[in-house]
Amino acid sequence: MPYNEDRATWFDGQGLWQHVPESDWRDWNWQLKNRITSAAQLEQFMTLTPEEKAGCLFANHKLALAITPYFFNLIDRNDPGCPIRRQVIPRGEEVVMAEEEMLDSLGEDAHSPVPGLVHRYPDRVLFLVTDRCAAYCRYCTRSRLVSNAQDYNFHPEHERALRYIEAHPEVRDVLLSGGDPLLLSDRKLDHLLGRLRAIRHVEFIRIGSRIPVFLPQRITPELCEIFKKHGPVWMSIHVNHPKECTQELKDACERLAYAGVPLGNQSVLLRGVNDEVDVMRALVHRLLRMRVRPYYLYQMDLITGGSHFKVDVRKGIEIIRALRGHTTGYAVPQYVIDAPGGGGKVPINPEYIEKITDDEVVFKNFQGETFRYPLKSTPHRPVEASPAHGVMPAELFP
Ligand SMILES: *Cc1c(COP(=O)(O)O)cnc(C)c1O
Repeated sequence: MPYNEDRATWFDGQGLWQHVPESDWRDWNWQLKNRITSAAQLEQFMTLTPEEKAGCLFANHKLALAITPYFFNLIDRNDPGCPIRRQVIPRGEEVVMAEEEMLDSLGEDAHSPVPGLVHRYPDRVLFLVTDRCAAYCRYCTRSRLVSNAQDYNFHPEHERALRYIEAHPEVRDVLLSGGDPLLLSDRKLDHLLGRLRAIRHVEFIRIGSRIPVFLPQRITPELCEIFKKHGPVWMSIHVNHPKECTQELKDACERLAYAGVPLGNQSVLLRGVNDEVDVMRALVHRLLRMRVRPYYLYQMDLITGGSHFKVDVRKGIEIIRALRGHTTGYAVPQYVIDAPGGGGKVPINPEYIEKITDDEVVFKNFQGETFRYPLKSTPHRPVEASPAHGVMPAELFP
Protein backbone atom coordinates (compact mmCIF):
# COMPACT_ATOMS: atom_id res chain seq x y z
CA MET A 1 0.00 0.00 0.00
CA PRO A 2 1.51 3.37 -0.94
CA TYR A 3 2.30 5.62 1.97
CA ASN A 4 -0.37 8.26 2.43
CA GLU A 5 1.11 11.54 3.59
CA ASP A 6 -2.16 12.66 5.17
CA ARG A 7 -2.13 9.69 7.51
CA ALA A 8 0.73 11.27 9.41
CA THR A 9 -0.70 13.96 11.64
CA TRP A 10 1.33 16.48 13.56
CA PHE A 11 1.08 14.25 16.59
CA ASP A 12 0.83 16.31 19.74
CA GLY A 13 0.01 15.08 23.20
CA GLN A 14 1.00 12.84 26.03
CA GLY A 15 -0.56 9.66 24.69
CA LEU A 16 0.05 6.86 27.20
CA TRP A 17 1.25 9.36 29.79
CA GLN A 18 -1.99 11.34 30.16
CA HIS A 19 -1.79 11.01 33.95
CA VAL A 20 1.52 12.88 34.14
CA PRO A 21 1.38 16.65 34.82
CA GLU A 22 2.11 18.56 31.65
CA SER A 23 4.96 20.38 33.37
CA ASP A 24 6.69 17.03 33.93
CA TRP A 25 5.97 15.87 30.39
CA ARG A 26 7.59 19.02 29.00
CA ASP A 27 10.62 18.66 31.25
CA TRP A 28 13.47 16.95 29.42
CA ASN A 29 14.92 15.58 32.63
CA TRP A 30 11.59 13.92 33.38
CA GLN A 31 11.63 12.37 29.90
CA LEU A 32 15.15 11.02 30.47
CA LYS A 33 14.37 9.67 33.92
CA ASN A 34 11.28 7.90 32.65
CA ARG A 35 12.84 6.23 29.64
CA ILE A 36 11.84 2.69 28.82
CA THR A 37 14.92 0.55 29.26
CA SER A 38 13.81 -3.07 29.65
CA ALA A 39 11.67 -5.74 28.04
CA ALA A 40 9.53 -5.84 31.21
CA GLN A 41 8.72 -2.15 30.85
CA LEU A 42 7.96 -2.54 27.17
CA GLU A 43 5.60 -5.41 27.94
CA GLN A 44 3.55 -3.22 30.24
CA PHE A 45 2.52 -1.34 27.12
CA MET A 46 2.67 -3.80 24.26
CA THR A 47 3.09 -7.37 23.16
CA LEU A 48 6.60 -8.03 21.97
CA THR A 49 7.21 -10.40 19.08
CA PRO A 50 9.56 -13.36 19.73
CA GLU A 51 12.25 -11.58 17.66
CA GLU A 52 11.90 -8.48 19.80
CA LYS A 53 12.04 -10.47 23.03
CA ALA A 54 15.23 -12.15 21.88
CA GLY A 55 16.63 -8.75 20.94
CA CYS A 56 15.83 -7.24 24.33
CA LEU A 57 17.62 -10.06 26.16
CA PHE A 58 20.77 -9.33 24.21
CA ALA A 59 20.51 -5.57 23.96
CA ASN A 60 22.25 -4.51 27.11
CA HIS A 61 25.35 -6.48 26.17
CA LYS A 62 25.77 -4.63 22.91
CA LEU A 63 23.78 -1.44 22.65
CA ALA A 64 21.51 -0.35 25.47
CA LEU A 65 17.77 -0.23 25.09
CA ALA A 66 16.36 3.21 25.88
CA ILE A 67 13.33 5.01 24.50
CA THR A 68 11.93 8.32 25.75
CA PRO A 69 8.20 8.30 26.61
CA TYR A 70 7.71 11.03 24.01
CA PHE A 71 9.18 8.90 21.23
CA PHE A 72 7.55 5.70 22.45
CA ASN A 73 4.16 7.34 21.85
CA LEU A 74 4.92 7.43 18.14
CA ILE A 75 5.03 3.64 17.95
CA ASP A 76 1.99 1.86 16.59
CA ARG A 77 1.81 -0.84 19.25
CA ASN A 78 -0.55 -2.97 17.18
CA ASP A 79 1.75 -3.08 14.18
CA PRO A 80 4.84 -5.31 14.49
CA GLY A 81 6.14 -3.69 11.30
CA CYS A 82 5.79 -0.12 12.59
CA PRO A 83 8.69 1.93 11.17
CA ILE A 84 9.22 3.74 14.48
CA ARG A 85 9.23 0.47 16.38
CA ARG A 86 11.89 -1.04 14.12
CA GLN A 87 14.24 1.84 14.83
CA VAL A 88 14.30 1.59 18.62
CA ILE A 89 13.09 -1.84 19.78
CA PRO A 90 15.86 -4.45 19.57
CA ARG A 91 15.43 -7.57 17.46
CA GLY A 92 17.09 -10.95 17.63
CA GLU A 93 18.79 -10.30 14.29
CA GLU A 94 21.13 -7.90 16.10
CA VAL A 95 23.03 -10.98 17.30
CA VAL A 96 23.57 -12.23 13.76
CA MET A 97 26.85 -11.01 12.48
CA ALA A 98 27.59 -11.10 8.77
CA GLU A 99 31.07 -11.68 7.38
CA GLU A 100 31.46 -8.15 6.02
CA GLU A 101 30.22 -6.37 9.15
CA MET A 102 32.59 -4.54 11.47
CA LEU A 103 32.53 -2.97 14.91
CA ASP A 104 34.32 0.11 13.58
CA SER A 105 33.05 -0.03 10.01
CA LEU A 106 34.21 3.48 9.09
CA GLY A 107 37.74 2.99 10.38
CA GLU A 108 37.24 5.92 12.74
CA ASP A 109 39.62 4.65 15.39
CA ALA A 110 42.47 4.60 12.87
CA HIS A 111 41.83 8.26 12.01
CA SER A 112 41.71 9.36 15.62
CA PRO A 113 44.71 11.49 16.62
CA VAL A 114 43.41 11.98 20.19
CA PRO A 115 40.54 10.21 21.98
CA GLY A 116 37.17 11.46 20.83
CA LEU A 117 38.40 13.16 17.66
CA VAL A 118 38.23 11.78 14.11
CA HIS A 119 40.32 13.69 11.58
CA ARG A 120 39.57 12.06 8.23
CA TYR A 121 39.06 15.01 5.92
CA PRO A 122 41.82 17.61 5.69
CA ASP A 123 39.80 20.65 6.76
CA ARG A 124 37.32 19.28 9.30
CA VAL A 125 37.10 17.10 12.37
CA LEU A 126 34.45 14.99 14.01
CA PHE A 127 34.46 15.68 17.74
CA LEU A 128 32.73 12.92 19.74
CA VAL A 129 31.85 14.78 22.91
CA THR A 130 29.83 12.15 24.79
CA ASP A 131 28.95 8.45 24.66
CA ARG A 132 25.30 8.89 25.69
CA CYS A 133 22.12 9.35 23.70
CA ALA A 134 18.53 10.13 24.70
CA ALA A 135 17.43 6.91 22.97
CA TYR A 136 19.39 4.30 21.03
CA CYS A 137 18.93 3.63 17.31
CA ARG A 138 19.22 -0.10 16.65
CA TYR A 139 21.35 0.57 13.54
CA CYS A 140 23.85 2.78 15.36
CA THR A 141 27.16 3.26 13.57
CA ARG A 142 28.92 3.95 16.86
CA SER A 143 27.39 1.22 18.99
CA ARG A 144 30.96 0.33 19.98
CA LEU A 145 31.27 3.72 21.70
CA VAL A 146 27.85 4.63 22.96
CA SER A 147 25.82 3.45 25.95
CA ASN A 148 28.89 1.75 27.39
CA ALA A 149 27.40 -1.72 26.87
CA GLN A 150 30.48 -3.12 25.12
CA ASP A 151 33.11 -2.02 27.65
CA TYR A 152 34.79 -0.07 24.90
CA ASN A 153 36.11 2.45 27.42
CA PHE A 154 35.36 5.51 25.39
CA HIS A 155 36.17 8.55 27.48
CA PRO A 156 35.95 11.70 25.42
CA GLU A 157 38.68 14.03 26.55
CA HIS A 158 37.51 17.48 25.64
CA GLU A 159 40.68 19.25 26.68
CA ARG A 160 43.02 17.14 24.54
CA ALA A 161 40.68 17.39 21.57
CA LEU A 162 40.36 21.17 21.94
CA ARG A 163 44.14 21.50 22.13
CA TYR A 164 44.50 19.41 18.98
CA ILE A 165 42.07 21.68 17.12
CA GLU A 166 43.86 24.78 18.43
CA ALA A 167 47.17 23.40 17.20
CA HIS A 168 45.88 22.52 13.70
CA PRO A 169 45.11 25.66 11.70
CA GLU A 170 43.91 23.54 8.76
CA VAL A 171 40.81 22.59 10.79
CA ARG A 172 38.21 25.13 9.71
CA ASP A 173 35.12 23.00 10.46
CA VAL A 174 34.26 21.20 13.70
CA LEU A 175 31.37 18.75 13.88
CA LEU A 176 30.19 17.93 17.40
CA SER A 177 28.72 14.47 17.61
CA GLY A 178 28.85 11.43 19.85
CA GLY A 179 26.64 10.12 21.40
CA ASP A 180 24.42 13.13 21.39
CA PRO A 181 26.07 16.49 22.17
CA LEU A 182 22.77 17.99 23.33
CA LEU A 183 22.75 15.66 26.33
CA LEU A 184 25.56 17.77 27.76
CA SER A 185 24.44 20.45 30.19
CA ASP A 186 23.87 24.00 29.02
CA ARG A 187 26.96 25.05 30.96
CA LYS A 188 29.15 22.45 29.29
CA LEU A 189 27.83 23.28 25.82
CA ASP A 190 28.28 26.99 26.44
CA HIS A 191 31.87 26.32 27.46
CA LEU A 192 32.63 24.01 24.51
CA LEU A 193 31.11 26.33 21.90
CA GLY A 194 32.86 29.29 23.49
CA ARG A 195 36.22 27.54 23.34
CA LEU A 196 35.71 26.56 19.70
CA ARG A 197 34.51 30.05 18.73
CA ALA A 198 37.66 31.50 20.28
CA ILE A 199 39.84 29.53 17.82
CA ARG A 200 40.48 31.92 14.94
CA HIS A 201 40.78 29.25 12.24
CA VAL A 202 37.53 27.47 13.18
CA GLU A 203 35.06 29.05 10.78
CA PHE A 204 32.27 26.53 10.86
CA ILE A 205 30.68 24.82 13.87
CA ARG A 206 27.92 22.28 13.62
CA ILE A 207 26.18 19.77 15.84
CA GLY A 208 24.86 16.37 14.82
CA SER A 209 21.96 15.47 17.09
CA ARG A 210 18.89 13.30 17.26
CA ILE A 211 17.71 15.05 20.42
CA PRO A 212 15.14 17.21 18.60
CA VAL A 213 13.56 13.93 17.42
CA PHE A 214 13.86 11.83 20.61
CA LEU A 215 13.57 14.62 23.15
CA PRO A 216 12.31 17.90 21.64
CA GLN A 217 11.78 19.18 25.21
CA ARG A 218 15.58 19.61 25.41
CA ILE A 219 15.44 22.49 22.94
CA THR A 220 14.75 25.05 25.62
CA PRO A 221 14.87 28.84 25.21
CA GLU A 222 18.02 28.81 27.38
CA LEU A 223 19.75 26.35 25.04
CA CYS A 224 18.71 28.44 22.05
CA GLU A 225 20.29 31.50 23.70
CA ILE A 226 23.59 29.61 23.82
CA PHE A 227 23.41 28.91 20.08
CA LYS A 228 22.60 32.56 19.46
CA LYS A 229 25.53 33.69 21.58
CA HIS A 230 28.06 31.49 19.75
CA GLY A 231 26.40 31.49 16.34
CA PRO A 232 26.37 30.69 13.60
CA VAL A 233 26.00 27.13 14.83
CA TRP A 234 24.55 24.74 12.26
CA MET A 235 22.68 21.59 13.14
CA SER A 236 22.02 18.27 11.44
CA ILE A 237 19.06 16.45 12.90
CA HIS A 238 18.19 12.82 12.14
CA VAL A 239 14.66 12.02 11.01
CA ASN A 240 13.95 8.81 9.12
CA HIS A 241 10.20 8.65 8.77
CA PRO A 242 7.40 11.21 8.34
CA LYS A 243 5.71 9.98 11.54
CA GLU A 244 8.62 11.49 13.47
CA CYS A 245 7.64 14.94 12.19
CA THR A 246 5.39 15.81 15.12
CA GLN A 247 4.13 19.15 16.32
CA GLU A 248 6.73 19.00 19.11
CA LEU A 249 9.56 18.47 16.64
CA LYS A 250 8.22 21.23 14.41
CA ASP A 251 8.11 23.61 17.39
CA ALA A 252 11.65 22.64 18.43
CA CYS A 253 12.91 23.28 14.89
CA GLU A 254 11.21 26.64 14.92
CA ARG A 255 12.92 27.59 18.17
CA LEU A 256 16.27 26.58 16.69
CA ALA A 257 15.63 28.39 13.42
CA TYR A 258 14.60 31.56 15.28
CA ALA A 259 17.86 31.32 17.22
CA GLY A 260 19.66 31.44 13.87
CA VAL A 261 20.53 27.75 13.63
CA PRO A 262 20.39 26.52 10.01
CA LEU A 263 18.89 23.02 10.01
CA GLY A 264 19.71 20.01 7.87
CA ASN A 265 18.57 16.43 8.11
CA GLN A 266 20.47 13.17 7.79
CA SER A 267 18.44 10.01 7.18
CA VAL A 268 19.64 6.45 7.03
CA LEU A 269 18.02 4.28 4.38
CA LEU A 270 16.53 1.41 6.39
CA ARG A 271 14.61 -1.63 5.27
CA GLY A 272 11.03 -1.56 6.53
CA VAL A 273 11.40 2.05 7.68
CA ASN A 274 11.89 4.38 4.74
CA ASP A 275 12.86 2.28 1.73
CA GLU A 276 9.83 3.34 -0.29
CA VAL A 277 9.53 6.35 -2.59
CA ASP A 278 6.21 7.44 -1.07
CA VAL A 279 7.58 7.40 2.46
CA MET A 280 10.70 9.31 1.51
CA ARG A 281 8.73 11.89 -0.46
CA ALA A 282 6.39 12.45 2.51
CA LEU A 283 9.42 12.75 4.79
CA VAL A 284 11.29 15.36 2.75
CA HIS A 285 8.13 17.41 2.26
CA ARG A 286 7.44 17.44 5.97
CA LEU A 287 11.07 18.36 6.67
CA LEU A 288 10.81 21.43 4.45
CA ARG A 289 7.63 22.45 6.26
CA MET A 290 9.66 22.35 9.48
CA ARG A 291 12.43 24.56 7.98
CA VAL A 292 14.76 21.57 7.68
CA ARG A 293 16.75 21.00 4.50
CA PRO A 294 17.32 17.30 3.68
CA TYR A 295 21.13 17.02 3.63
CA TYR A 296 22.26 13.40 3.37
CA LEU A 297 20.56 10.08 2.79
CA TYR A 298 23.00 7.42 4.01
CA GLN A 299 23.39 3.92 2.80
CA MET A 300 23.61 2.08 6.13
CA ASP A 301 27.12 1.43 7.37
CA LEU A 302 28.31 -2.17 7.67
CA ILE A 303 27.57 -2.34 11.37
CA THR A 304 27.48 -5.60 13.29
CA GLY A 305 24.01 -7.09 13.52
CA GLY A 306 22.50 -4.71 10.98
CA SER A 307 21.68 -7.05 8.12
CA HIS A 308 17.92 -6.84 8.72
CA PHE A 309 18.05 -3.12 7.94
CA LYS A 310 20.03 -3.40 4.74
CA VAL A 311 18.56 -1.92 1.55
CA ASP A 312 19.80 -2.52 -2.00
CA VAL A 313 21.69 0.52 -3.29
CA ARG A 314 19.61 0.35 -6.47
CA LYS A 315 16.54 1.08 -4.33
CA GLY A 316 18.25 4.17 -2.91
CA ILE A 317 19.07 5.37 -6.42
CA GLU A 318 15.46 4.76 -7.48
CA ILE A 319 14.26 6.92 -4.58
CA ILE A 320 16.56 9.79 -5.53
CA ARG A 321 15.53 9.50 -9.18
CA ALA A 322 11.87 9.71 -8.11
CA LEU A 323 12.56 12.93 -6.19
CA ARG A 324 14.95 14.88 -8.42
CA GLY A 325 12.99 17.09 -10.79
CA HIS A 326 9.70 15.72 -9.54
CA THR A 327 9.76 17.85 -6.42
CA THR A 328 11.44 20.92 -4.91
CA GLY A 329 15.19 20.78 -5.36
CA TYR A 330 15.67 21.76 -1.70
CA ALA A 331 13.83 18.55 -0.77
CA VAL A 332 16.32 16.20 -2.40
CA PRO A 333 19.10 14.91 -0.12
CA GLN A 334 22.47 13.73 -1.39
CA TYR A 335 22.57 9.94 -1.25
CA VAL A 336 25.98 8.75 0.01
CA ILE A 337 27.88 5.67 1.02
CA ASP A 338 30.38 6.27 3.78
CA ALA A 339 33.15 4.13 2.35
CA PRO A 340 33.85 1.07 4.55
CA GLY A 341 37.24 1.22 6.19
CA GLY A 342 37.41 4.99 6.21
CA GLY A 343 37.25 6.44 2.68
CA GLY A 344 34.78 9.15 3.56
CA LYS A 345 31.35 9.91 2.13
CA VAL A 346 30.94 9.22 -1.56
CA PRO A 347 27.93 10.54 -3.52
CA ILE A 348 25.79 7.92 -5.22
CA ASN A 349 23.64 9.40 -7.97
CA PRO A 350 21.27 8.25 -10.68
CA GLU A 351 23.01 8.42 -14.05
CA TYR A 352 21.70 11.22 -16.26
CA ILE A 353 24.68 11.56 -18.61
CA GLU A 354 24.60 9.37 -21.69
CA LYS A 355 27.73 10.56 -23.41
CA ILE A 356 30.38 13.28 -23.19
CA THR A 357 32.64 14.08 -26.15
CA ASP A 358 34.74 17.16 -26.99
CA ASP A 359 31.72 18.45 -28.91
CA GLU A 360 28.78 17.86 -26.64
CA VAL A 361 27.26 16.27 -23.61
CA VAL A 362 24.18 14.13 -24.12
CA PHE A 363 21.92 13.61 -21.13
CA LYS A 364 18.44 12.65 -20.02
CA ASN A 365 16.14 14.81 -17.90
CA PHE A 366 13.90 13.69 -15.03
CA GLN A 367 11.26 12.53 -17.51
CA GLY A 368 13.70 10.41 -19.47
CA GLU A 369 13.87 12.74 -22.49
CA THR A 370 17.24 13.21 -24.16
CA PHE A 371 18.92 16.63 -24.43
CA ARG A 372 22.22 17.89 -25.80
CA TYR A 373 24.49 20.67 -24.60
CA PRO A 374 27.21 21.76 -27.08
CA LEU A 375 30.69 22.09 -25.63
CA LYS A 376 32.39 23.65 -28.69
CA SER A 377 31.51 27.29 -29.19
CA THR A 378 31.19 28.72 -32.67
CA PRO A 379 32.23 32.43 -32.54
CA HIS A 380 29.98 34.58 -34.64
CA ARG A 381 30.53 38.23 -33.80
CA PRO A 382 32.29 39.88 -30.87
CA VAL A 383 30.20 41.00 -27.96
CA GLU A 384 30.30 44.79 -27.68
CA ALA A 385 32.12 46.01 -24.63
CA SER A 386 29.95 47.93 -22.21
CA PRO A 387 31.27 51.15 -20.73
CA ALA A 388 33.01 50.61 -17.41
CA HIS A 389 30.98 51.55 -14.37
CA GLY A 390 32.75 53.03 -11.41
CA VAL A 391 31.60 50.28 -9.07
CA MET A 392 32.97 50.39 -5.57
CA PRO A 393 34.04 46.98 -4.32
CA ALA A 394 31.90 45.82 -1.41
CA GLU A 395 33.74 45.36 1.83
CA LEU A 396 34.29 41.74 2.87
CA PHE A 397 33.95 40.60 6.41
CA PRO A 398 37.21 39.48 7.99
C1 LIG B 1 30.55 12.94 7.95
C2 LIG B 1 31.84 13.34 8.50
C3 LIG B 1 32.26 14.67 8.44
C4 LIG B 1 31.43 15.76 7.81
O1 LIG B 1 31.27 15.56 6.43
P1 LIG B 1 30.46 16.59 5.54
O2 LIG B 1 30.39 15.95 4.18
O3 LIG B 1 31.23 17.87 5.55
O4 LIG B 1 29.12 16.77 6.16
C5 LIG B 1 33.49 14.98 8.96
N1 LIG B 1 34.28 14.04 9.50
C6 LIG B 1 33.91 12.75 9.55
C7 LIG B 1 34.85 11.73 10.13
C8 LIG B 1 32.67 12.34 9.06
O5 LIG B 1 32.30 11.06 9.14
